[in-house]
Amino acid sequence: MKAARISGFGGPEVFAVVDVPTPEPAVGEVLVRLRAAALNRADVLVREGRFPEAPPPPMTLGVEGAGEVAALGGGVAGIAVGDRVVVNPMRTCGECENCRLGRDSACAGLRFVGEHFDGTFAEYIAVPVHGLVPAPAELDDRQLAAGLLAHMTAWHMLKTRAAVRPGETVLVVGAGSGVASAAVQVAKVLGAKVIATTGGERKVERVRGLGADEVIDYRSEPDFDLAARALTDGRGADVVHETVGNSTVRRSVQSVRHGGRVVGMGSHTGRLAELDLSVLYRREISLIGCHASRRAEIDEFLPLLADGTLTPVIDSVHPLADAAEAQARLDSPERFGKVVLTID
Ligand SMILES: [Zn+2]
Repeated sequence: MKAARISGFGGPEVFAVVDVPTPEPAVGEVLVRLRAAALNRADVLVREGRFPEAPPPPMTLGVEGAGEVAALGGGVAGIAVGDRVVVNPMRTCGECENCRLGRDSACAGLRFVGEHFDGTFAEYIAVPVHGLVPAPAELDDRQLAAGLLAHMTAWHMLKTRAAVRPGETVLVVGAGSGVASAAVQVAKVLGAKVIATTGGERKVERVRGLGADEVIDYRSEPDFDLAARALTDGRGADVVHETVGNSTVRRSVQSVRHGGRVVGMGSHTGRLAELDLSVLYRREISLIGCHASRRAEIDEFLPLLADGTLTPVIDSVHPLADAAEAQARLDSPERFGKVVLTID
């Protein structure tokens, strides 16, 4: 089969499409013929050698993918060849206490497709049957590949962790990314007023199109914390959705009201940040960390993706052969939403 693999650590140029053996589904596994895959920041971490838990190259990257069942391993029931499926990026043990209690984002054995082992930038992948999600007929493979992880993350952050309530104001920082463009929509579904930041007129219009009530263009208003306060009568947002990292986190904390919550995951502009701790404690601000998602959350939002209430935001679609070019697009300031690969 064809797979887009990294041959070493480095820039997008380390990708090459090569022939590798098609995996055999083991007992309890399903072989999936992938039709679409989506890119993530995690690809960059692994590609650059900044994810120490990844196996050494050569490795097939790709956290997300959708397609149809091609073959069943032994002992697999409840699914048939030809069924359309999405790969759950999370691989959990299913047995530890956290898994049994439905808190699988805290699974002691949690690993990720395309980070801890070979991923979805390939024609086939073998997946344990519990690591597959049935595909709603209303969504095509590209929408499924692009939509699952972004909405898993945004849903976990805003609904489960920050517990956003109707009428609250949510500030989504850097709304052009896959996760943050999903967060704008999820916050609206939860009944919030949404303020979002993004860069440039074209992106401002697109974020408005996702349902944001107010959009701050950080290219013309770099002090987005002051702009967010002005838009909330000086009070500050109830919840700030922060996925950018060092370049924004100080202003994100400055944007929240007394007693508000900053909910965070991701730090691609830098993991280390300097915060004025007196702001945190004087304003009684909660910093809420997030990691991954929970399987049960997929069942909460997937019907909303299927009926169009939530929309996967796709920036661009590239053939698998152009995996390197697609990786470069991740870093483009013009990118808006998910970068998708098609696998013919
Ligand atoms: Zn577990």
